[in-house]
Amino acid sequence: MTVDSVIQIKCSCNQYPWGKQGSESLAARICAKTPGWDEDDKGNKTDFKIDENKAYSEMWMGTYPELPSYTIPDGKDLQDVIDENADQLLGQTVAKKFGHTKLPYLPKVLSISKALPLQLHPNKDLSAELHKKDPSNFTDPNHKPEIALALSKFEAFCGFKELQDIEPLMNLDPLKKFLPDVKKPKFDDQMLKHVVNQMLKAEDDVIAETVEGLRKLDTSSFGKDTYIHELIPRLASQYDKTDPGILVALITMNYLVLEAGEGLFIPADGIHAYLSGDIIECMARSNNVLNTGFCPSGDRNSADLFCSVLTFSPHSAEECMLRGEKYEGSSSGKTLVYKPPLSEFDMLVTDLGKGDKETLKAVEGPSILLATKGSATMRAGGKTYDVGEGTTWFVGQGTEIELDSKDGLQMHIAYVE
Ligand SMILES: [Zn+2]
Repeated sequence: MTVDSVIQIKCSCNQYPWGKQGSESLAARICAKTPGWDEDDKGNKTDFKIDENKAYSEMWMGTYPELPSYTIPDGKDLQDVIDENADQLLGQTVAKKFGHTKLPYLPKVLSISKALPLQLHPNKDLSAELHKKDPSNFTDPNHKPEIALALSKFEAFCGFKELQDIEPLMNLDPLKKFLPDVKKPKFDDQMLKHVVNQMLKAEDDVIAETVEGLRKLDTSSFGKDTYIHELIPRLASQYDKTDPGILVALITMNYLVLEAGEGLFIPADGIHAYLSGDIIECMARSNNVLNTGFCPSGDRNSADLFCSVLTFSPHSAEECMLRGEKYEGSSSGKTLVYKPPLSEFDMLVTDLGKGDKETLKAVEGPSILLATKGSATMRAGGKTYDVGEGTTWFVGQGTEIELDSKDGLQMHIAYVE
């Protein structure tokens, strides 16, 4: 063995404008604990310190080149350490499965104060095509399905409502103009695609007039979707009343309010926009995105391109949900596994009370661990580690993990095998 199988890492946090301010941001608070790394104005690496004047959106854990993690104490790029010790740390199963030695997944902590861009992440074929044509905007040939696990109350728009719930809304006076001229007897996915395309392409004044028209209606006009009326002013103030995201999200998409511990799965080509809360997100290794709303018009991709790849799954609120299941590799039963239907990763969530013990069996691939809350003693790879709240760790394949919680521990672990 040439290197320890357990390596503490330091991460960094980016500053998209939808992030939470200063120390209100959980992503920033977690990043400050290790501490993570930052860069000064001259591009020199410094310790991460929270600046109350900045909004902090996402802490990234892993080896994506835009915001990589570095080893503690050596300060090496984690991917370089994995590459140099691929057999020991990544293992042949995972190297063969993906044909490379890069970490196939990217976990993040997100702190959301207002709507993220309305987006989808294109499938593998389109990603490869876009990457070839425009590598500076589409940095990966890979798809990017993702999961989001709530750490607090979490509001999100995800997938489409059931058609029978969209149809009556589209018959409201302000919205009829987005329907096709030739109407089919039944509102179907093709009509939905037409509606979304028309909303995304509408002129600013048409959107503003529609939003205003909807605002003037009685709450009861929206049937069971009374939240539409409540959210119009909030979304219009976050961006602008000319933003097409307001109409697409409120009229056609599921609005979900999750509690801590609940999760979502977003497939490739799935429409989504997160609205508020703190979450753990994990995705396949890629950064490709098509944005169409809840962002300045200059940042929007073409409505036709967006609609050409849009999938109609999920098509109800329930279909969006990703639920934790019993994890066979847990000795105490206090770890759940979240298994999205994809090959790049699964996620474990361990919740221990004061003094609880847990043993997690070795997996045949690499893991990234985050002590989200609380602390523990961890024994792994023949050594003992103090796992403080907010610390982040890389664990090589084939390593059993024993945890001894102090005053309780919540840990999120992304892994693949
Ligand atoms: Zn996304």
